[in-house]
Amino acid sequence: MNYRRLGRSGLKVSELSFGSWVTYGSQLDTKLARECMAAAWDAGVNFFDNAEVYAGGKSEQIMGAALADLRWPREKYVVSTKFFWGLSDGPNQRNTLNRKYLLHAIEASLLRFGLEYVDLVYCHRPDPNTPIEETVWAMHDMISRGRALYWGTSEWSADEIRAAWDIAERHHLHKPVMEQPEYNLFRRRRVEREYLRLYEDIGLGLTTWSPLASGLLTGKYRDGIPDDSRAALKGYDWLREALTDPARNAAVADLQAVASDLGCTLPQLAIAWCASNPHVSTVITGASKPEQVVENMKAQDVIARIDAGVRERIDALTGKLAR
Ligand code: NDP
Repeated sequence: MNYRRLGRSGLKVSELSFGSWVTYGSQLDTKLARECMAAAWDAGVNFFDNAEVYAGGKSEQIMGAALADLRWPREKYVVSTKFFWGLSDGPNQRNTLNRKYLLHAIEASLLRFGLEYVDLVYCHRPDPNTPIEETVWAMHDMISRGRALYWGTSEWSADEIRAAWDIAERHHLHKPVMEQPEYNLFRRRRVEREYLRLYEDIGLGLTTWSPLASGLLTGKYRDGIPDDSRAALKGYDWLREALTDPARNAAVADLQAVASDLGCTLPQLAIAWCASNPHVSTVITGASKPEQVVENMKAQDVIARIDAGVRERIDALTGKLAR
């Protein structure tokens, strides 16, 4: 496994990492989560992604329990959480990045994890109802109080990220280091265009999500919805239309030839393609079974094979369908 700097920070993260959205709590109990994390760790993963809102707080509890069982030295792994949506109702508890919510949320999250600090903390979405300056000060204070080491954003616009960075620069506060955007063969614009100037100007790092577009890029949805897949889960009906889209599934079928020529599987090709973008610090993978983790982590051997020629072939098959 290679380790890349998280943007301009000195922190090194494995180029492939492992997250808990959808799976922890609904498909993986603590035992299976521990097995998946152990498989990722054995492959060299040092970053495990989480969020307050995942499974209503249960995902942090499961990861914390798994970490306690695994007994890895705390200095060797990186854990994240994210805040915005909140876990309970109230004017200062939902859909906000105000100071009151954020400084309460981190304490509750650490209790669920059973950790003294998280390494990375994200503002999970932008909040148009809180001044960015208030949020930046709260994130700075979270770090100054020792509750987190680095902070960043998720799905913020380039303008919002730059505004936060400028405020932090002006007041000598801890700056946002990383952004967590969706990035896969069908979702490219933000990473490849919108953020372009930020990589150079402020040294933005990326921890990208959904490299398989929730499983679409594995090819498993070509003939409908398998019973044991994410699209079959209760509460995820909203994903079904995108996952069974005929044009995208036809493109995925065509990608099989590229994967075969590279001697890898479709998931490995799709994950390696994300990691081959030098602006990406780490590709956060997801899995509902330990076997998927083992397969996906082998994508690290495929990254170097994604050369200009391969990229052109992939673009010809998927480029028109990408947003
Ligand atoms: P992917 O797009 O890679 O989808 C992962 C899912 O695809 C798995 O849970 C599994 O679902 C299926 N899958 C994975 N590998 C294989 C395989 N080898 N063969 C067949 N099926 C496979 O990533 P996620 O959408 O899970 O996102 C990854 C992480 O990113 C999350 O865990 C989370 O940490 C983060 N994230 C962050 C967001 C944000 O807003 N910041 C939003 C979303 C995710 P199944 O088996 O059930 O079909």
